[in-house]
Amino acid sequence: MRSVEEHQRIVAEHLPAGEPVALALADAENLVLAADLVAEVALPVFDNSAMDGYAVRAADVAGADDTPVTLPVAEDIPAGRTDIPALAPHTAHRIMTGAPVPAGATAIVPVERTDGGVDTVKIRAASAEGRHIRRAGEDVPAGATVLRAGHRVTPAVVGLAAALGHDRLTVWPRPRVLVISTGTELVAPGTPLQPGQIYESNAVMLAAAVRDAGAAVPAVATVSDDVEEFAAVLDRYAGHIDLIVTSGGVSAGAYEVVKDAFGRDGGQGVQFVKVAMQPGMPQGIGRVGRTGIVTLPGNPVSAMVSFEVFLRPALRAAMGLARPHRPRREAILTDAVRSPPGKRQFRRGVFDADAGTVVTWGPPASHHLRYMASANCLLDIPADVTDLAAGAAVRLWDLS
Ligand code: AMP
Ligand code: MG
Repeated sequence: MRSVEEHQRIVAEHLPAGEPVALALADAENLVLAADLVAEVALPVFDNSAMDGYAVRAADVAGADDTPVTLPVAEDIPAGRTDIPALAPHTAHRIMTGAPVPAGATAIVPVERTDGGVDTVKIRAASAEGRHIRRAGEDVPAGATVLRAGHRVTPAVVGLAAALGHDRLTVWPRPRVLVISTGTELVAPGTPLQPGQIYESNAVMLAAAVRDAGAAVPAVATVSDDVEEFAAVLDRYAGHIDLIVTSGGVSAGAYEVVKDAFGRDGGQGVQFVKVAMQPGMPQGIGRVGRTGIVTLPGNPVSAMVSFEVFLRPALRAAMGLARPHRPRREAILTDAVRSPPGKRQFRRGVFDADAGTVVTWGPPASHHLRYMASANCLLDIPADVTDLAAGAAVRLWDLS
């Protein structure tokens, strides 16, 4: 059997990073910069007022703490005014926050320290040279590298880019993933069930997981256990997407459509392997043409855990994220756990971060989707551990 680490590595090899792309700011959210972000303008762009008030020469109001000074108001400068007359000595310009400081002004007097006059203003407080003036370039000098390649595009990064006049960011692209579920028994939710049929849940679940990892899902398909139908979907999309993810049809029975389509001996582009883990032992990896394909087992919990173990880190690494893995934590187990020998077990768990404890959640069998849905972690039990008593320390993957 192949180890989890080995299969993780092979899956990641089938999903290389794409070419950097320049995306509109809204489309770049949460992606990773593929190039340094360089300021073409300074921030602030120009010297501007930090307060609503009056632009003055500091010397003209130097005595105002003792004796109020009255000055004529020569101009009104709201934010956005583009023609800014210079300030003559012994005059004031009324000025608003963010408006350009006129040449000749050396300080701003906040409106609260004045009578707020429009024609003349009575100033009741001195203001030191430079007071309440935000200097051009004091945040970012023009030409500065403000963020390095590798930085994730957070909301504040979007804001900074926009403030610097960029309408696009150069980022690592989202991998485009085709999700296919297989099974003649599957019908779409929202339609009536015939005896023997079940609702399709893996495709919608895996598509949601792909998007949650930050990648894109341009197409989702459900096919029956018919090799030609399955092959037709592969033909249609391979080459136009970055990765294909299938679920079901890779076990040991008859009618295993994915195995049948690629040849069970692994001769036709996909290698079927057993990975030493529970759940999720039957796995497949390969290519359709140049497009990577990862074939996951069909049991819903197996599919979801396999996604967490192999695909989520591979997708996030391909997007340049520095920490592709779920945060790992350690907690004290509050119940006992048994794990099969020789397999790394990923049990669903509920983790209490404040108490530092974790309890296993639901049985180990891989059809209990309900417990997967209400778990907040996966216990990661090493292959050589078969018994853990209550009170033991256990490693977990934080899914919250
Ligand atoms: P398979 O790996 O195809 O043998 O499927 C294993 C189990 O998972 C069977 O009980 C299937 O009915 C179930 N299963 C497979 N695919 C899906 C799916 N897309 N949605 C819900 N259940 C599925
Ligand atoms: Mg099946």
